[in-house]
Amino acid sequence: MKDYQTEGIIIRVRDYGEADRIVTILTSGYGKVQAIAKGCRKPKSRKRGLIQLFTHADFVLYRGRNLDTITQCEGKESFAGIRGDLDRMAYAAYLAEVLDGFAVSGEIQEDLFYLALVCLHLLTVEDPELVTRVFEVRIMRLLGYMPHLDDCVHCGSSLKGSQVAFSSSMGGGLCGICSSTDPEAAVCTLGTLNMLKQLSRWDLKRLRVLRLTAKMKREIGEIMQQYISQRIEKRIRSADFIQSLASVQNKGEFGEY
Ligand SMILES: [Zn+2]
Repeated sequence: MKDYQTEGIIIRVRDYGEADRIVTILTSGYGKVQAIAKGCRKPKSRKRGLIQLFTHADFVLYRGRNLDTITQCEGKESFAGIRGDLDRMAYAAYLAEVLDGFAVSGEIQEDLFYLALVCLHLLTVEDPELVTRVFEVRIMRLLGYMPHLDDCVHCGSSLKGSQVAFSSSMGGGLCGICSSTDPEAAVCTLGTLNMLKQLSRWDLKRLRVLRLTAKMKREIGEIMQQYISQRIEKRIRSADFIQSLASVQNKGEFGEY
């Protein structure tokens, strides 16, 4: 069977040749798929508006030796709410980069696909920073990398006091005394570590009820980006873009860009 059908989300796109695009699709049934969409940039192509970042669609693909070919694409959702908003777009690009880092070719990854789908939907309406923090924790839990947060990962004593830390290399929280055992550990509040635990189990339909301070969101972001970068063994470039976007907006110099 050279043809196969699957539901998927486009998580990476690049133009190729005069009118083609090469895309990475996160599928429910085949993990990560690399495929070419021939002629999709031609003005009259039926695939023209579909072959772009974050399109959720039913695909029919033809299996090739190195690269599959998209023969049919039936769009289900384009996530226009993300595309029209620079902030949401930046966070969605970060999600896509992390998914690309963890997805595996040829494996059934239904849970990963549905997490991506739910988070993209949430990104269109909810606070994009909060959705991203929840996504980070959930993808870690899903893939079996949930950090140890019940007690100190180094000495086992209970985590208490105002200043604790998180060690990416040890994979968990450190008590105040052990925080110096890992020079790379990120100092944070106990409230942040407790919130990490809460996010791992929180009902995603009730995201609006969650109350996170700006400091908590920032600390969770720093912790999880370092932790995830270590797991996928590369720097997440779109995180830098979110950062620069935030600093521009804080300075109120948005008009210059
Ligand atoms: Zn300790």
